[in-house]
Amino acid sequence: MDNPKPNKPTRTRNPRKSSYGTSRRSIIKKSFSQEQVMFTGPLSDDPIIAIIGGGMSGLVCALNLEKRGIRSTVFDTGLHGLGGRMGTRIIDPQPLIFDHAAQFFTVSDPQFAKLVDGWSEKGQVQRWEGTIGELEVGGRFVPLPSSPPRYIGVNGMRPLADSILSQTRMIDVVRPCWISKLEPCNGMWHLSENGKPRGQFDALVIAHNGKCANRLLASSGLPLIARQMKRLELSSIWALLAAFEDPLPNPANAVTFPFEGAFVKGVDSVSWMANNAKKLLCSQNTGPHCWTFFSTATFGKRNKVPQENIPTATAERVKEAMLEGVENALGLSKSSLKRPFYTRLQLWGAALPTNTPGIPCIFDPHGRAGICGDWLLGSSLEAAAISGIALANHANQVIADYFQSGGARPDEFAVGLHNEFQPLIGHDIGQFPGLESEEQTVMAQSIQLST
Ligand SMILES: Cc1cc2nc3c(=O)[nH]c(=O)nc-3n(C[C@H](O)[C@H](O)[C@H](O)COP(=O)(O)OP(=O)(O)OC[C@H]3O[C@@H](n4cnc5c(N)ncnc54)[C@H](O)[C@@H]3O)c2cc1C
Repeated sequence: MDNPKPNKPTRTRNPRKSSYGTSRRSIIKKSFSQEQVMFTGPLSDDPIIAIIGGGMSGLVCALNLEKRGIRSTVFDTGLHGLGGRMGTRIIDPQPLIFDHAAQFFTVSDPQFAKLVDGWSEKGQVQRWEGTIGELEVGGRFVPLPSSPPRYIGVNGMRPLADSILSQTRMIDVVRPCWISKLEPCNGMWHLSENGKPRGQFDALVIAHNGKCANRLLASSGLPLIARQMKRLELSSIWALLAAFEDPLPNPANAVTFPFEGAFVKGVDSVSWMANNAKKLLCSQNTGPHCWTFFSTATFGKRNKVPQENIPTATAERVKEAMLEGVENALGLSKSSLKRPFYTRLQLWGAALPTNTPGIPCIFDPHGRAGICGDWLLGSSLEAAAISGIALANHANQVIADYFQSGGARPDEFAVGLHNEFQPLIGHDIGQFPGLESEEQTVMAQSIQLST
């Protein structure tokens, strides 16, 4: 489409209509009734990209843009560091240490493998050699094979996020910063945080999801991107961090404690438990025993409250239910689990995607905006990283080929704006290729057959 004023974005009405049900209609209508931004002016020879979100996908995207000589600024809300759902909590002076979202990752994609090799060489990640397996309610533990290998951040996941950008020169990080508005103006995206200008950029990358992204996109002039984001559904998961003076009692029928991490089966309030002190400090039997427990998504949904404002009574009830769930999982008698001396409860209100368009990234060339994130491909750190790489490569191709060719045939460069979503199968805390249970394999096969 011709723009009468080069370099200035124009807006056109998006003619597409919603096919959604009534409950979400008004929000979706708002996204749909937006006018599409059309940037038609030439792009700068030295463009700078705004990346909103400093989790795995945003960081890897920034890193891969730099490899192609493209500058970026990463904005992230994190008070303590970058990383998003790669959070680690360290409580001094003991110290207590917990990864309080992502626990470990597996590697199946060659591009991700290359990235992980690089991090291993720099001493940023290492293999998690501890036993992990499946713990059936009542205390029956079945170890999973040691292949595929599991990886962890050497000092936890968050330090890995912080170190990903440590040797870069073309990436600025602005943190803590909550981008609240995106406005197209004079051929650039203008970003602001509660009225405070945060800079002008040639293109945008949205590297976060959930309510915040929906709000940001609701009036941004990117209706097709907003619609895809709105289709995403997310689970809620409670995390209970608990430090015990003594090791947990052995599961029923086990002579010695057999695992460092376990996918829990048959317990409503717990889906995963891992000894993070053993995982990260290799402390065998001494010192505090720091466990991360996650609820199931079903329990999270049933006990969902605003995550910023958890009522005390809910917190207490959830904590007790989860500790009781641990007892049941281990097959211990009621109230035999000694009380932890430290606990911290957190609700991940937008924890993991439960559906996906199954494409590595989304890019709207008219609006010069893209999306990366785990949900585009799956629910794991690996999916997030692959998405970040894909968007950086795609943006690079767009910048190199499309914008420099004077903006002809923009639609050829569009990606993922209309893809349908499919349900995601995996563990409640994500997908780990090679570590699926039999039940998940059967479900995945039946979805494949029906599509
Ligand atoms: C409880 C739990 C357990 C998990 N366990 C595992 C596991 O063991 N293994 C695994 O591989 N995966 C696991 N995952 C999934 C994994 O953590 C995610 O897939 C991955 O971290 C997603 O990365 P991302 O970059 O897509 O998004 P995020 O990590 O969510 O990053 C988005 C970032 O954007 C920031 N942000 C949001 N809005 C704004 C704004 N307006 N302005 C600025 N910044 C903003 C956020 O604060 C956040 O830092 C787990 C997830 C949860 C919740």
